[in-house]
Amino acid sequence: MRHDINLTAERQTFVTHLECSMTGERFAADELHGLSNVGRPLLVRYDLPGVAAAMTRDALAERPADLWRYRELLPVRRRENIVTLGENATPIIPLDKIAADLGSAALWVKDEGRLPTGSFKARGLVMAISMARELGVTSIAMPTNGNAGAAAAAYASRAGIEAVIFCPADTPEINVREIAAQGAKVYRVDGLIDDCGKLVAAGAKANGWFDLSTLKEPYRIEGKKTMGLELAEQLGWQLPDVIFYPTGGGTGLIGMWKAFDELEAIGLIGPQRPRMVAVQAEGCAPIVRAFEQGERHATRWQDAHTVAAGIRVPQAVGDFLILDAVRASGGFAISVSDEAIVAEVEEVGRREGLLLCPEGGATLAAYRKALRDGRVSSGDSVLLFNCATGLKYPMADHSLRWATGA
Ligand SMILES: *Cc1c(COP(=O)(O)O)cnc(C)c1O
Repeated sequence: MRHDINLTAERQTFVTHLECSMTGERFAADELHGLSNVGRPLLVRYDLPGVAAAMTRDALAERPADLWRYRELLPVRRRENIVTLGENATPIIPLDKIAADLGSAALWVKDEGRLPTGSFKARGLVMAISMARELGVTSIAMPTNGNAGAAAAAYASRAGIEAVIFCPADTPEINVREIAAQGAKVYRVDGLIDDCGKLVAAGAKANGWFDLSTLKEPYRIEGKKTMGLELAEQLGWQLPDVIFYPTGGGTGLIGMWKAFDELEAIGLIGPQRPRMVAVQAEGCAPIVRAFEQGERHATRWQDAHTVAAGIRVPQAVGDFLILDAVRASGGFAISVSDEAIVAEVEEVGRREGLLLCPEGGATLAAYRKALRDGRVSSGDSVLLFNCATGLKYPMADHSLRWATGA
């Protein structure tokens, strides 16, 4: 069956302008932008009363279960610019056995591994690449820890846009290969993701590549925001008490926080918010350190290392947006060990039949730790994020040998 996007209305979107997330300075929509004049992310703003009139519960009930169902709150103006691989809604899976062990009122995983290219990076990149096409971009470049590069490669190839991707040399091997397999030029770099980011910035100047780095263009947040819209709708416009989010650049956490404000403004939810928990690895926890020290900005984490490559981000340009959202929600930032991450991936696979990525394992490890130290209670309903399919990552070999006697 063909995947049809149900964009029939003449008016596809309600974008009014863009706004600097730090100073509030306004920028025109429908022009190509990177960061604001003070070097901070730009946020897309909408005519929310217009959205409220068009994106009603009844209107939503008629639409296919994909992220384009929220089109009034998305930036793409013209349907022909949408580059799609079928961005289906992802299921919320209960972890009943583990919830029973822990006495949890509700423990759910939003399983983002079901998306095209096997990770939630598809949500952000389908939006960034569709907008790049709409605004006339012909080549993009980005640094990646793996999944973002894979999604960028896939959508850029479909859009006929050249993609140049830089990843740390120790990025999970399947990511490096899938990027090339989906038509991008991929370079292994002796360094971390922010070193790759410097190569992209230099190449953008020298070669005219459009810089698609996390939060350095305005539209990946809008794509990632659909996680918040979708989970709210799936839970009957009732948000969970706590969300555990594995935080690298923080696009998803920032996007969901924005989504909840927009949903409240259009009358689909009330003022209650989940407590937002930023989960990092002990070997790379700049947001946790800044949270604990009461800082609004995070300093670069030296010698970053963790098995959870997706959250190995030593410095994030949207650090203050992550920290503001976490604090405003009454949440916190927490780090977990690689041993705990690996143990959770094995436990959830073995007992619940759900193969998590390491970053997803980190959220369960963080939940357990927060239950122990009393920062969440077993009465809280809890939503964890699994951001990529576990099939992308190395697995331990527990096979047995059957001797045939031959
Ligand atoms: C990118 C990524 C993350 C971090 O997401 P951000 O929104 O950039 O913080 C977590 N897990 C996986 C698997 C990822 O690919």
